Amino acid sequence: MSGIPEVRPEVRAAVGRDLARLCELFGRRGWLPATSGNLSILVARDPLHFGITASGRDKQALTPEDVVFVDGEGRALPGQPGLRPSAETKVHARLYARTNAGCILHVHTVFNNLASRIGFAAGGVELADLELLKGLDIWEEGARIRVPVVENHADLDRLAGAVAGAASDPRVPGVLVREHGIYAWGRTPDEAKRHLEAFEFLFEYTFYREVWSRLERLPDAAARSDAGKGKDRF
Ligand SMILES: [Zn+2]
Repeated sequence: MSGIPEVRPEVRAAVGRDLARLCELFGRRGWLPATSGNLSILVARDPLHFGITASGRDKQALTPEDVVFVDGEGRALPGQPGLRPSAETKVHARLYARTNAGCILHVHTVFNNLASRIGFAAGGVELADLELLKGLDIWEEGARIRVPVVENHADLDRLAGAVAGAASDPRVPGVLVREHGIYAWGRTPDEAKRHLEAFEFLFEYTFYREVWSRLERLPDAAARSDAGKGKDRF
């Protein structure tokens, strides 16, 4: 019906193994709290189908059997009783159709939520002149990119359209969703992991830089610092 051939057992096993490995690693870092997040790996682009962590499973204890294979609309392929794709699977499907991704990682972290809040009004988070941009394969001196931030639509079709629509700069393998999380990707699981790690570092930096620059701008900061000169600070 869908024209999708049955996923071969060795492909299922390899995708399951890679996703379980990534879940274990990200789980230890606290990037998959409260069963949230979903990670996927492309099986084939034509017709589009991929494996994704099943809904409701504790991602921190995910096994290769907790992966569900879905079509280009995010619907489970036949013959997988008890495995349900999460609603957010639609976002993965649209991103595979729009980008060169071979693996997509969606995680909710404190720092990607804070960065999305900082960048939302401007439509994105500006990242410039930072060494860790090399983690995104951006090597030129003085490099500047913008990670898009889209609204956190409750309607998943709208969210999927917004995320895929924002993925327009081929140098930027990620889109933030406001006060929700990030979708980051790469051509392989290892590349996607490297991109996500670079993003999370850069978002943490973005947050602290914002706090730091606000502290420096406090109107009486200079006065306080003068008043404290030469006195016993304790
Ligand atoms: Zn989410």
